[in-house]
Amino acid sequence: MSEKAKNSEKHFSFNCPACKQGKIKIKKTTYDLPDGDKMLILKFECNVCNFHNNDIIPLTTNMNPGIMSLKVTEEEDLKSKIYRSPLGKLEIPELELKVEPGPGADFYYTNVEGILFRFEAAVSIYRKNLEEKDPQIEEIDDILNKLKKAMEGKCNFTLKLTDPQGGSYIIPHDESKYTFERIEKIE
Ligand SMILES: [Zn+2]
Repeated sequence: MSEKAKNSEKHFSFNCPACKQGKIKIKKTTYDLPDGDKMLILKFECNVCNFHNNDIIPLTTNMNPGIMSLKVTEEEDLKSKIYRSPLGKLEIPELELKVEPGPGADFYYTNVEGILFRFEAAVSIYRKNLEEKDPQIEEIDDILNKLKKAMEGKCNFTLKLTDPQGGSYIIPHDESKYTFERIEKIE
């Protein structure tokens, strides 16, 4: 855990909505972001089943539009945290993968590993819907292979998050691998 994160744990006595037996534990983490902002993350966990949930509350608002890039070169980098606003475009150029912003997009908070899982799920579904002799299959399998290696920290790639309004974040595990390039705000 980064020294910039402050943790506190609180035990509440409300029951788990999933299993109805366990108690929900709330873990509160405050992050100091690289640009001076702060963000509060509430993590809810059941002590009996595996129910869990996250809530993110930006304590100050980063409205710096820009392009955030994170170089992932080892397994530890997969722990870097990503917070994407609905206006953020997320890309892995080396794997030709991207998530476009859209009105249906959610805010989401995860780590690099979580993003790779999302991509893998999406690419796998896409592959399932192809005809058996579709020429794309070879290419798709190649992407799936690379994703697998990436999840094991055996494939270098860049995670790029472009946010024209500001509000998205990358919290790097290793700050030397992170760059932020400001862009002019699109009104
Ligand atoms: Zn439970």
